[in-house]
Amino acid sequence: MSAITNHMPTSELQALDAAHHMHPFTQGSGLAAKGARVITRAKGVWLTDSEGNEILDGMAGLWCVNIGYGRDELAEVAARQMKELPYYNTFFQTTHVPAIALAQKIAELAPGDLNNVFFAGSGSEANDTNIRMVRTYWEEKGKPEKTVIISRWNAYHGSSMGSGSLGGMVGMHAQGGMPIPGIHHIGQPNWWAEGGDMSPEDFGLMRAQELEAAIKELGENKVAAFIAEPIQGAGGVIVPPATYWPEIQRICDKYEILLIADEVICGFGRTGNWFGSQTVDIRPDIMTIAKGLSSGYQPIGGSVVSDEVASVIAGTEFNHGYTYSGHPVASAVALENLRILEEEKIVDQVRDVTGPYLKGKWEALADHPLVGEAKIVGMMASIALTPDKASRAPFAADAGTAGFICRERCFANNLVMRHVGDRMIISPPLVISETEIDTLIERARTALSETLDSLE
Ligand code: PLP
Repeated sequence: MSAITNHMPTSELQALDAAHHMHPFTQGSGLAAKGARVITRAKGVWLTDSEGNEILDGMAGLWCVNIGYGRDELAEVAARQMKELPYYNTFFQTTHVPAIALAQKIAELAPGDLNNVFFAGSGSEANDTNIRMVRTYWEEKGKPEKTVIISRWNAYHGSSMGSGSLGGMVGMHAQGGMPIPGIHHIGQPNWWAEGGDMSPEDFGLMRAQELEAAIKELGENKVAAFIAEPIQGAGGVIVPPATYWPEIQRICDKYEILLIADEVICGFGRTGNWFGSQTVDIRPDIMTIAKGLSSGYQPIGGSVVSDEVASVIAGTEFNHGYTYSGHPVASAVALENLRILEEEKIVDQVRDVTGPYLKGKWEALADHPLVGEAKIVGMMASIALTPDKASRAPFAADAGTAGFICRERCFANNLVMRHVGDRMIISPPLVISETEIDTLIERARTALSETLDSLE
């Protein structure tokens, strides 16, 4: 059989793909009916597909390509590391320079006393580590009954059994026996969809206080940790009211509950600071990291752990780890990515220049007849589509129809924008320029108007 290359006709690639490749979060039978879009190369914020279309990637892949596509430095570092030491593990009292250097750099960038890193291959794996780590922590502290982890509905923490159970995606829980025991979910701070007649501030406070109510109901002596994304990503870029996080922090402090900030999306500049925890002003005991850590150029994640938690874990042999924990090539690439983010002041740029520029343009989308609220923090943003702005009504039948149409219209206009139900979301590479932001907004407006036309 001849080699499969970018030069093959798209239809042949699509047919082979549908025949042999099972895709994540995709209905397989749909692939046969309508082939997948084949992406062939990328540079900066631009993707090229097999038909030669130039597409503006408003999602940075899956929220991860923070420094943009096509940075040769990362390819060169990967090649060099593969020649020198392509693989060795970090089990059983062994280490290597890329893992040491990356852990040191993450400790330097992370806030507070988050000075210790347990590496994983992905965000899902890192959250699985967190489940075992917080329970082991309490066990070592002589409180083995503290095992329950509280999370939120509509949170996303990954797709493995553990991390998918931490997540609050009902569609995921409906398949394959999730959630695992010992996870408890409370409501999300999504004022637009669930706030009713309350003010955003009162609603934010109420949702935070559900944590306190859950701790009391479950028993203070049973709860190990609370996990949340500083700003929910996959749930629809839900920006919590300002009252939410201070109250959560107060409750975690009061009841001695470990706070896990899932920074897989928010980390490494996405919110205009190195970490979302700094943006929402919280003091987590553990941060989950992945995605922007390597800008997606290599699969790598990890748990960034406080001195207190790490010192307790260090008292025992933690029987946990992954073949690729601290993988040398992934670590070297991640370190180079962090060098670029830092030296090119990309995080400062998001906070001071391009973030505010995008914010002005994004919030102005609320003048479109289809758009209710427009929310943005740094370089993650959402708009809620609604038939009635005043009542914040959802579309009556087939939730997600407007969002789905809009996503398709974005594709047709060579823009990648995702939909979560009837919320449209973006998370572009952090290096997007003001001219590219103008293009993104222009295409989004065209897609919105085409969606409106097709709904009428
Ligand atoms: N946590 C959050 C907040 C995420 O958004 C994701 C992925 O989107 C994950 C965890 C899981 O990461 P991964 O897909 O690398 O396993």
